[in-house]
Amino acid sequence: MTPDIYLDANATTQVLPAAAAAAQRVMQETYGNPSSTHCTGIQARQVLSDVRARARRVLDAGEGRVLFVSGATEAIQTAVLSALCDIRERRQRGEPVGGLLLYGATEHKAVPESIAHWNRVLALNLELRAIPVDGRGQHDLAVLQAMAGNAALVCTMAANNETGAISDLDGIAHVLASCAHRPLWLVDGVQALGKLPLDLARRGIDYSAFSGHKLYAPKGTGLLYVREGAPFTPLMVGGGQEGGCRSGTENLAGISALGAVLQVLEDGNTFQPDAELRHMRDRLVDALRDAFPGVVFNTPFAAALPTTINFSVPGFSSKDLLDVFDAANLRVSAGSACSAAKAIPSYVLDAMGFPAWRSASAIRMSFGPAALPAWIDLACQRIRHCGQALGRAAAAPRQTDGAVQIRQVRAEGRSSWMLLDVARRRWLVIDPHPCTLAGIQRELGNLAWPVGAVLATTDSAAAQLARQALLHWIDANGGHADAVLGDTGWPPGETHCALADGTLAHALPVGAGVLVRWQDDGHTAYLLGIAGPAGLGGNDVRHVFVAAAPTPCGPGMPLESLGVVAGDQAIVCSACDDGISFTATLGALRSPATSPELPADASVDGRTLRRFLIEHPQARLIDLREPGEHLAGGPVRLHGHMAQAAALSQIATHLGGWLARRDEPLVFLCRSGARSERAAAWLRRLGHHNAWHLGGGLALQAAQAE
Ligand code: PLP
Repeated sequence: MTPDIYLDANATTQVLPAAAAAAQRVMQETYGNPSSTHCTGIQARQVLSDVRARARRVLDAGEGRVLFVSGATEAIQTAVLSALCDIRERRQRGEPVGGLLLYGATEHKAVPESIAHWNRVLALNLELRAIPVDGRGQHDLAVLQAMAGNAALVCTMAANNETGAISDLDGIAHVLASCAHRPLWLVDGVQALGKLPLDLARRGIDYSAFSGHKLYAPKGTGLLYVREGAPFTPLMVGGGQEGGCRSGTENLAGISALGAVLQVLEDGNTFQPDAELRHMRDRLVDALRDAFPGVVFNTPFAAALPTTINFSVPGFSSKDLLDVFDAANLRVSAGSACSAAKAIPSYVLDAMGFPAWRSASAIRMSFGPAALPAWIDLACQRIRHCGQALGRAAAAPRQTDGAVQIRQVRAEGRSSWMLLDVARRRWLVIDPHPCTLAGIQRELGNLAWPVGAVLATTDSAAAQLARQALLHWIDANGGHADAVLGDTGWPPGETHCALADGTLAHALPVGAGVLVRWQDDGHTAYLLGIAGPAGLGGNDVRHVFVAAAPTPCGPGMPLESLGVVAGDQAIVCSACDDGISFTATLGALRSPATSPELPADASVDGRTLRRFLIEHPQARLIDLREPGEHLAGGPVRLHGHMAQAAALSQIATHLGGWLARRDEPLVFLCRSGARSERAAAWLRRLGHHNAWHLGGGLALQAAQAE
């Protein structure tokens, strides 16, 4: 296994050896309770005051208070609670207070969620409003100026966690200073600590929040700065620690580790200077440009932390990219969260006005100021390796045994189907949709193999638009689609084939079989199967492509009519995602009530897998990872069993074979266990009771790359 390259420092960091040593020392030597009056307690108290003094210097705290807390989320709660309690008291006294609670549109969720929570709990009923940002992530100061006069609290981050965009704190300070009744001001300094001068006191910031684990200290440590004279209400009361501002025995080990990091910051000889960090970033950016032609950067480099790079690659979702990076042991973060059925775009990139595809494809790479040039070299190599893996996965369709490979391209609840006719060395595309186009183009790669047909099961405006766009793209890439494909997408020279309902339908040879266009009552379906001398009987049909299976996207193709031309074993591939993402047999769709319940647990974990494979020697490991992940990470062998590659996007190719051999135990595996869990559950629902999955995925296995 190649060593991990961890490029997710904005999520958290390793603990610096000096910090771990400091924690260890305190746990074993200076372990007293800082509130104790004996010598052990006095020594512990001294640790607290030394670290606090350092923190005050690093934060430019002036006369303000610096409190030890569990992290930024607690610091933010305390600041918001303090501000809102003060606002409530002033309002009760009849003093003028603004009616707005403002926060930057790209704030970490800890901020707007805290404001909404305490506004509700304190029954203030103030109005929350986001301060818009521009394409560089900069707050719109004109809008802030217009709202600030009526604001009671303003929350702005110093630097953004997703893009690294640095806020214009001086500009914000200027706007706030011009208000007749200056609102309270909270600055989330989490991503700025150790990377930007904070000048908290000079800027007149009322509260600022920090987390130790973002800068090489352990999790569970943090700082809250409170300007001298700023209102304060403790979040936690009890033993009166931290001068009564934050009760609870102090996390002395964590605090001393944080102190060691602050010492490193003050000494200035462990962390890289800004110019070197910029140089490192530029090298990573170059590697990304080499690896992914077409990459676009969402980080506004001119005013951003040098340690954060946010980018998108056309045709790839964040998850596609993250899976490939992870297979190559390169840990990055998706710029957006994804649900199974639909990519949820990053609200940060949305707020910056980027098109949806960019937030759905965003990846964040972030490193810390302790990064070393040799390590960046390795990261660059690994990035280029991932680019090559994806390029190879797209460039040449891999040979199979001559069967037809079926690939599903999913995006935003739509599925397009691509048939790879290996014998004829050509592609057939069914149901392109505007949101799947980029993925289809990616699969077609450099068009080494031509496109033989572009078909649609509906004539909706979106379907027509996508078909035309794809034909143009094929043309532009030397595929001469217009010459080959007629108006219906059906190539000239077609043949006919008799179907089980007695009709004669247009047919196209595909692999060893035929693809047949069948229409009934205004619905179009494509049937793929191996025709006999009498035509394509119902039991000869292997796959059926329809606009929609009956639910939940609408009535769809009536299953009863499909049943006239296709048997129950036919695999139905729908263009409208059913939210589950897998295909189903016609039989299972027609009688869902008889489908067995999902089993409580169909998983084997790393500890039980060896025994499982001994007890089931005929079991097959099925690796559901996508081709790019295989190429990036290599094949998987576990306990002497080589996993067979069957990417989840190609499950329709394999499903029929698996269901035909229901007694053969299958153990699905993937990166995290999420895809394999869904696949095993789905197979069981379709009647394969010997489908299992590797719980926790390869992430929790000592997978052996070969
Ligand atoms: N603010 C920002 C900008 C962050 O990046 C984070 C963590 O990702 C937080 C606040 C919350 O920090 P924690 O989870 O350490 O409390």
